[in-house]
Amino acid sequence: MRHARLILKPGHDRPVRRHHPWIFSGAVAELEGRIEDGEIVDVYSSEREWLARGYLNRRSQIIVRLLTWNPEEAIDESFWERRIDRALAARHLLGLDQITDAYRLVYAENDWIPGLIVDRYGDFLVIQSLTLGIERRKELLVRILAERCHPTGIYERSDLDVRAKEGLPPADGVRHGEMPPERIVIREHGHLFRVDIQHGQKTGFYLDQRENRRRVAPYLAGARVLNAFSYTGAFAVYALAAGAESVVNLDTSAEALAEAAINLQLNGFPASRFENIEGDAFRVLRQFRASGRRFQAVILDPPKFAFAQAHLERAARGYKDINLQALHLIEPGGILVTFSCSGLVSADLFQKIVFAAAEDAGREVQILERLGQAPDHPVRLSFPEGGYLKGLICRVW
Ligand code: SAH
Repeated sequence: MRHARLILKPGHDRPVRRHHPWIFSGAVAELEGRIEDGEIVDVYSSEREWLARGYLNRRSQIIVRLLTWNPEEAIDESFWERRIDRALAARHLLGLDQITDAYRLVYAENDWIPGLIVDRYGDFLVIQSLTLGIERRKELLVRILAERCHPTGIYERSDLDVRAKEGLPPADGVRHGEMPPERIVIREHGHLFRVDIQHGQKTGFYLDQRENRRRVAPYLAGARVLNAFSYTGAFAVYALAAGAESVVNLDTSAEALAEAAINLQLNGFPASRFENIEGDAFRVLRQFRASGRRFQAVILDPPKFAFAQAHLERAARGYKDINLQALHLIEPGGILVTFSCSGLVSADLFQKIVFAAAEDAGREVQILERLGQAPDHPVRLSFPEGGYLKGLICRVW
């Protein structure tokens, strides 16, 4: 099949040759042939050498998302089947079913399916379609997923701001089978969590933190723990199960805290072992300092602070401030667990930010472990942008 041809400006072929999946509109010299947005385009170097094939959207700054670097590979139904099968096979190889029934099945560019996220929660799948190219093939992709995974239902949670950049409105609803119940109970490392896939944050649960919750838990035995940015209390459940004395959950979301309380009770922990505080962590941590309240461990898992390079400095100040406030509250010999899920903040920069906070707090800090995102959120080497979550387990003196 002959496709429209997109010719790159001189010198813009290198990332494409290295299998980076994005072409920015600024790299384009010309577009030859009639083509609708969302359709397949062939990408050529300025010397007219065929390079790759992907789907087009002129409305997006990322004008093409590349799908294949093989000129013989057509983008037909069997292409999408092969890509989904590869993603499913990769998850199967992780042996996750022993550990959990909630994990990411398809992680977009990192699974060579740009723009599509698929998470499994028990018998239900949740999909996010982030681009026009996926939007136009959504029915097909849902059909393939239904055939392969036999879920009770497939629910769409495409309510992300990034869709606007593709000219797409938000879209939520059942795409296959049954409507999910209001709460699905999932298991993770032997613990139970209620997940609201219709209204919860992301697709309902922070699946990317699964392994970090497990690795942090042993450091919390016996500790009075502050779980800042707690969401529905996942770290709190792991902490108490590992023998923490008590946990304070802190979040701005009253709904998330109400769910945290239920999750803690669901796992057998009485209300006497935890306290929920609704409030802004930046303020509440300062109040704790002023009132002399101290902890033996503090967990900081804030939302993304850096959305664009232009805001990186402000984001860095935010991370530094919250870490500084946390360090003031930790008893000598205690634990700081600190995360950043901003892709723009590198692991190296994050470590420097925590160091700057430690200097200002007048504390000595040792890194015990470095953390990343769970392996069902793999990072493609040719797409380092896929890595966003980083964390440190530290001992604070
Ligand atoms: N650690 C959680 C995920 C945290 S997500 C888990 O493992 O499930 C980040 C959380 O921070 C969200 O629940 C959000 O409601 C909360 N949040 C955002 N801004 C906040 C602020 N300024 N103070 C306290 N919580 C905040």
